[in-house]
Amino acid sequence: MSEAPETAAAGDGIIRCDACPVLCRIRLGQQGACNRYANEGGRLVRTDPLLLAQRAAAAGAPLVPFAEGASAWEGRVISGADLFVTGIGAGTTYPDYKPAPFIVAAEYEGVDTVTVVTEGIFSYCGVKVKIDTDRFIGPEQAAVRCDGEQVGHVTTAEYGSQMLALGGVRHLTGGSKKEGNVTCQMMLDLCNRGPVELAVDEGATLTVQSGQAPVIDGTREERMRVGCGSATIGIFARQWHGHADEVIVVDDHITGVLTEHQAGRFLDMRPAGVRVRGRRSTPGRYFQVAEPGRGWGGTNIDDPLTIIEGIDRKRAWPGLRLLMVSTTGEHAAWFELDENLRPVERKMPDAVAKVVERIGENCEPALCSVLFMAGAGGSLRAGATENPVRLTRSVKEALTRVTLGGAPAYVWPGGGITVMVDVAAMPDNAFGYVPTPAIVGPIEFTMPLDVYAELGGHMSQVRPLSSLSRESRVRFTTLKPGQPWPAAPQKKRLPR
Ligand code: SF4
Repeated sequence: MSEAPETAAAGDGIIRCDACPVLCRIRLGQQGACNRYANEGGRLVRTDPLLLAQRAAAAGAPLVPFAEGASAWEGRVISGADLFVTGIGAGTTYPDYKPAPFIVAAEYEGVDTVTVVTEGIFSYCGVKVKIDTDRFIGPEQAAVRCDGEQVGHVTTAEYGSQMLALGGVRHLTGGSKKEGNVTCQMMLDLCNRGPVELAVDEGATLTVQSGQAPVIDGTREERMRVGCGSATIGIFARQWHGHADEVIVVDDHITGVLTEHQAGRFLDMRPAGVRVRGRRSTPGRYFQVAEPGRGWGGTNIDDPLTIIEGIDRKRAWPGLRLLMVSTTGEHAAWFELDENLRPVERKMPDAVAKVVERIGENCEPALCSVLFMAGAGGSLRAGATENPVRLTRSVKEALTRVTLGGAPAYVWPGGGITVMVDVAAMPDNAFGYVPTPAIVGPIEFTMPLDVYAELGGHMSQVRPLSSLSRESRVRFTTLKPGQPWPAAPQKKRLPR
């Protein structure tokens, strides 16, 4: 266990933890409400070990075997190129004026750097979930529920994916106690890469988990669509040319019609006269051909012919070969027009079936992606410097690198330090909680030592990386291959 900065033992052996606003009174041998702090022999300790990250081995090279404890340090020259101290297990700095639990100096590529390491208590945080599917999961803005409580909503769909915005301060603090607790637990599970069951009002039930295929209404999604209907036409037009007289790619958003589409025109295809319902946007591209649903291409249709408004007798001809297909190739049907220009379903020719199969082949596996988003508040910034705006500026000036558990964070433009990180890039079980309720997550600020001094950092608290070998308990992990080394400081200088 790592030692916490505060050890206020009272006469009865009970100590008060002041690592968050809950201020638990913890009896000897017991843990606080979040299980993150304990009273061990009258001392307040962080129950999880501090996590240090080592570089991923180069391809084929064996990993350096690290054992737990101080022996892991023996015989090694410790530099920022070898090890990075993450915020996981570091402890928090509440109330805000205390310096961060670990402010660690290390040399990296000839530059003296400092990493300020904390576990942040994030009341302002949320989770963005990207679900690779064109299946209808519920209307935009619909409430998303967990255990009956609203924990977020369906937000703007992206290319080939449905999106959820979950958590956030309103659900954590603005509703009932149960809503706050359910929201907190849901975010904790998702951020630690566990599965979560959700239900969308007027929509689907979902099981989402970082890095796993979504389960929608009990069915595991396999494929992310190759593109919208128009894009699918463009990609495969040449491969259909000569084998089909018309191709309609059914899509909830943009349905494509080959002979009207620019791609068909470039191939000098004869207009087929098959008119599609909906609103024509540009030639061969139609919006709103049907309602959203769980049928073909994210629409509510099971019979593709229902989107055909009419067949132009002046243009169409008996024997016209028509392919109707969805954006994943999961649904496809082949028709030929009879003497009365009525579509009759026939067996799909092999050459066409091959292209339909290729649509499926070009669909990537459907996954759920979970991004944690949060703002660095008082304790995080004051834990780094007495003049927090200087830290914010240095982050914006790209002098200070922000990582969460060693994983690179995207820092939003504009005010504050609002970060977003893919939880799949973070070590296991990186997140915790406190019952205020709020999510606890690691955060590290790394910068050159002189920049840290310039921004009014807590210089008296800076300790060498090697001093961590004196910590009673540390644990080691390996960063994911291809991940940038988090100890590398940014190169730009602060304007004076
Ligand atoms: S909830 Fe956890 S961090 Fe907060 S006071 Fe209790 S033991 Fe300490």
